[in-house]
Amino acid sequence: MEIIETIGVLKKEISKFREQDLKVGFVPTMGALHDGHISLIEKARQDCDVVVVSIFVNPAQFGPEEDLLQYPRDLGRDSKFCEEKNVDILFVPSGYEIYPTNDDALHISFPKYTTRLCGKFRPGHFDGVLLVMTKLLNIVEPDSCFMGKKDGQQLIIVDKLIKELNLEIELVGCPTLREATGLAMSSRNVYLNEEEYGKAQLINQTLERISTQQLNDIETAIAKEISKLQDVGLIVQYLELVDRENLDSVSKIETGKYMLCIAALCGSTRLIDNYFIDIDEQGEVKIDRGLRIDSLK
Ligand code: AMP
Repeated sequence: MEIIETIGVLKKEISKFREQDLKVGFVPTMGALHDGHISLIEKARQDCDVVVVSIFVNPAQFGPEEDLLQYPRDLGRDSKFCEEKNVDILFVPSGYEIYPTNDDALHISFPKYTTRLCGKFRPGHFDGVLLVMTKLLNIVEPDSCFMGKKDGQQLIIVDKLIKELNLEIELVGCPTLREATGLAMSSRNVYLNEEEYGKAQLINQTLERISTQQLNDIETAIAKEISKLQDVGLIVQYLELVDRENLDSVSKIETGKYMLCIAALCGSTRLIDNYFIDIDEQGEVKIDRGLRIDSLK
């Protein structure tokens, strides 16, 4: 595995693969890799000839009060994981490499999608994601890009970005990896103390209960579930059923592709989770809840 820090060297290496007509898969991350990230790398390894992973903690997607400085970083451990998973190139650019003029004048915005849900509570977050993804996709020029359904809104927005920029890149949405308790894996789970960790399980249990028992009266269910979570001290920022096409809130289900999604503060840690729910013309409900790590062993 090659560890590359500069765009020039990266492009040169990738062009060698391209000359051989090899399919390039790309997995963008912010590091602190866990099994969720690894599952994206494994999927890229299966589907592509060459796997490029990037680790870049993108300052543009953190708000001024957010955890940019504390965000967990461990390049030694991450590069060992990547090596074990046969990654070909690990791209670890500096801030200067990605933002050469250190000028915040360039903005890419998609307000209809970026100001909803997480965007409402993290103003500017998705603009930062759009900016860095535009840059990374332009630098790597992959055939396929692998991202997690765990960050459902991000996946939907990047899908819109790729289409609107007319990029010929296949975006592959990969299942959410969960701990045996159902908690969605996240680099931020390390912030949770024991008591918070216990409460964090309730987030997934809420999605499970609503999606399996309460879809027919979604408004009542959401109000009831928010109040249950608030009672144990979780601060729910949103719990919504939305249409995956436009992120509009849905109060009555019919045939369609939905996302039941939640963001809650557990102590000072912000956790998100979602289920993708499809309802076909026969009314059959298909729930994509991701994969629990214990079911894979
Ligand atoms: P991050 O390092 O948090 O920016 O995440 C990098 C990529 O990993 C994103 O596409 C995330 O959606 C994905 N990811 C993070 N956590 C998980 C998870 N538990 N399961 C699947 N993918 C994940």
